[in-house]
Amino acid sequence: MNRSLQMVDLRSQYLKIKPEVDEAIQRVIDESSFINGPAVEVFATNLAEYLGAKYVIPCANGTDALQIALMALGLQPGDEVIVPCFTYVATAEVIALLQLKPVLTDVDPKTFNITAELIEKVITSKTRAIVPVHLFGQSADIEPIMALAKKYNLYVVEDTAQAIGADYSFSTGEVRKCGTIGHIGTTSFFPSKNLGCYGDGGALVTDDADFAGKIKMIANHGQSRKYYHEVIGVNSRLDTIQAAILNVKLRELDKYAASRSDVAAFYDTQLGGIDWLEIPEREKKSTHVFHQYTLKLKQQTDRNQLKNYLESKGIPSMVYYPVPLHLQEAFKTPAKGVGDYPITESLCTRVLSLPIHTEMGEEEKEYITSSIKSFK
Ligand SMILES: *Cc1c(COP(=O)(O)O)cnc(C)c1O
Repeated sequence: MNRSLQMVDLRSQYLKIKPEVDEAIQRVIDESSFINGPAVEVFATNLAEYLGAKYVIPCANGTDALQIALMALGLQPGDEVIVPCFTYVATAEVIALLQLKPVLTDVDPKTFNITAELIEKVITSKTRAIVPVHLFGQSADIEPIMALAKKYNLYVVEDTAQAIGADYSFSTGEVRKCGTIGHIGTTSFFPSKNLGCYGDGGALVTDDADFAGKIKMIANHGQSRKYYHEVIGVNSRLDTIQAAILNVKLRELDKYAASRSDVAAFYDTQLGGIDWLEIPEREKKSTHVFHQYTLKLKQQTDRNQLKNYLESKGIPSMVYYPVPLHLQEAFKTPAKGVGDYPITESLCTRVLSLPIHTEMGEEEKEYITSSIKSFK
């Protein structure tokens, strides 16, 4: 390989849209509209239109988006919020930070996502909300989760940081974008996410005017009129420069998803027949935007060996995630230990994510898959 392999190649992606991005950034600087400049509102409108949602409220990052969403629900300390055990820490962190109680569930070993059946087992009289995570780029099976939420009168906040652009199909035939189905959806524009900016960024999505108003107010120091603070809020804004970049990149998002899908299809055909690993299974009701292409090794002992082997061949790979939430120092409770979330615990020892991005060439894909095939 004459080009060094990377998990994502943001530089090559930038070079293809450089004139538009550079011009967009320069315009913000020329206008000196660094905070809440026109590009922010334009981006909110563009993203709402893309998603088919009524309101998009940009904010500083995906973690803030989750925190602001939970604040907007008006929950009380001690209220329980259900989250998957197999996720990035941000999802559970904000729950704990707000003095709410994260209640973990195991996940479906096929899709890596939580399911209505797993959620129902942990619902109590204190449960107020569910935060499904659309992990690695495909929707959790959200229709039964919404039905459950209705039955128990719970809020649903979709963590869409990894699945922006994915489509979920309802049993009625209706198709909707991930993040627009729950009461509030959140997402992240961290550079390596599918719609990434050149720094930090995030957004909240809702169809509910009341939530939209609360979210806007909370993200802006709890004020809707300058210097009159109605609630305790935070300071969480998307920089105008980031919004300007995102306006350019949003136009490319479907193309980016298609490129990632092509890589995944190639990996599937090349790796599908190998008996010591499993290629990622698809959630039938969702498209997959492949934030990650995640293999499962059948033998735990193979995982780190394959990772090291690939590394020796100049191929990066990543373990998302090596430690289940309930075994993280910060989330340990006396009530839960090893063995309590067996599927998540097993996945943490067996998953390996391969490079997947919008700029992968034939030679790179070939080299990666032929190297994997020569591991055993
Ligand atoms: C990236 C990510 C977040 C947090 O986003 P930031 O913008 O980094 O704060 C939250 N949840 C999930 C599932 C993520 O992958």
